[in-house]
Amino acid sequence: MENVKFNELGLNDKVLRAIDDLGFEEPSRIQAEVIPVLLEGYDAIGQAQTGTGKTLAFGAPILSKFERSENNKIHTIILAPTRELAIQVNDELVRIAKYSRVRMLPVYGGQPIDRQIRALKSGIDIVVGTPGRVLDLIRRDLIDLSYIKFLVLDEADEMLNMGFIDDIEEILKNASKERQTMLFSATMPDEIKKLTRRYLKEDSKHISIIKNTMTVSTVSQYYYEIKQKDRFESFCRIIDVDEPASAIIFCKTKRGVDELVEAMQARGYSVEGMHGDMNQNQRMNTLRKFKEGNLEFLVATDVAARGIDVENVTHVINYDLPQEIESYVHRIGRTGRANREGIAYTLVTPREYMTLKQIEKVTKSKIKRKEIPTIDDIFQAKFKNILGRVRETLEQEEYKRFVPLAAELDDEFNLVDVAAALMNIVYNKEVSFDYTENSIGVTAGRIRLFMTVGRMDRLNPKMLLQFLNETAKVDREDIGDIDILEKFTFVDVSERVADTILKRCTGRKLCGRKVNIEISKPKK
Ligand code: AMP
Repeated sequence: MENVKFNELGLNDKVLRAIDDLGFEEPSRIQAEVIPVLLEGYDAIGQAQTGTGKTLAFGAPILSKFERSENNKIHTIILAPTRELAIQVNDELVRIAKYSRVRMLPVYGGQPIDRQIRALKSGIDIVVGTPGRVLDLIRRDLIDLSYIKFLVLDEADEMLNMGFIDDIEEILKNASKERQTMLFSATMPDEIKKLTRRYLKEDSKHISIIKNTMTVSTVSQYYYEIKQKDRFESFCRIIDVDEPASAIIFCKTKRGVDELVEAMQARGYSVEGMHGDMNQNQRMNTLRKFKEGNLEFLVATDVAARGIDVENVTHVINYDLPQEIESYVHRIGRTGRANREGIAYTLVTPREYMTLKQIEKVTKSKIKRKEIPTIDDIFQAKFKNILGRVRETLEQEEYKRFVPLAAELDDEFNLVDVAAALMNIVYNKEVSFDYTENSIGVTAGRIRLFMTVGRMDRLNPKMLLQFLNETAKVDREDIGDIDILEKFTFVDVSERVADTILKRCTGRKLCGRKVNIEISKPKK
């Protein structure tokens, strides 16, 4: 399935144009497989994790086939487990629908219903919502699914874990039988299989891109936890400390490559980019410079980097996480060749942390945490470097031509001050980013867990602490905030105990209920 292009999948021009504007180089695996199936009219079951491009996999064909019905009824309903995900899916669809005239509306609990009602009355084509709120609106006759063409269940296993099964079945029963149905889920427990047998057509296609294991080369792998708004600054801090001699930096999109190259060049780094919109000549030129050591940084998309063969790459830096786990393996395989030690860095926001954990699991490798360098760290690194260069210079004769000038300075200044001033000049030249805050890291190591037990089971914090202590031997100091909601609970725990809690407590009984525990999206 590799090397399929977006314009070979049968999507319409408006959708293709929007995808091109997004700067996506080529379809991800789930997209390459799901899009043609949906365009041909089949129901589909897609087994894929988050971050694999699922939204576009169902969104692009739906928008491509979109035709407003004469009676102005809802065309598509998409169900997602959480408010956050509903908004995320809606935002992505809005981007893909840039040139298509489609009216979309996200609906979820917690938002004033009046606004949603007003919008629904004015006519909506695609509704993205959480099951509870959607059902509520169906019962109020504000959502009518009797003419829909598409129904999507996104992250079906999550929806089941959150206790939405009855709501979902009710919604499915209300929906037109003429529709196409798509179900996406990372796992396929029996309940999901049952759901697909009941509500999807018999000739539905099952597409799985889940990988169990994959091997990676022996590269030292690290990750930095960053805030999204600090991605570029965090990256600059890292390379200012490490000063890689030869690094390949990966971005997810063509636009991402262009933006990063521009930002780096503006700050004086020796860098060029490579992606599919550049012609063969440009690419060969860039590659030659990089190979000959005349370019320290090469920024590339996965597609552009495919097939290039460069020795002596000291660092691979994942500025963005890759779309597929295979890409991660390919990317980091570009360093540490010929028995040289290679380093791979990955930048992740707290939200992307889950994907990183999946990569670790599938590749059976350990990706260690590193802290984003502080200004003090950068200063230390630069000082060491400057000192090294001073020593080297003193070993040769060339500097002697400046001795008469230095002697003159001796009359006017203290020579220690002069040396410090010269170092300051060199330092400012080397550090191009105007760093202000000493530390910009994300405070280490809290993970938010989601548990399927809540107030309705009469759970209180004390009982939860006792349960974690008895079942997983976890102490109070490893537990942070606890939020007990009606049907579920969120609890912050130290990173180092999260795995133990997941392993030991999942499936055990708490307040008479078998609990399911998962890593949740972080609070902020
Ligand atoms: P999803 O799995 O739908 O949540 O998508 C994860 C992220 O990947 C989103 O930020 C998308 O915008 C992005 N994305 C989706 N498809 C592609 C693609 N073919 N190439 C690059 N990025 C993509």
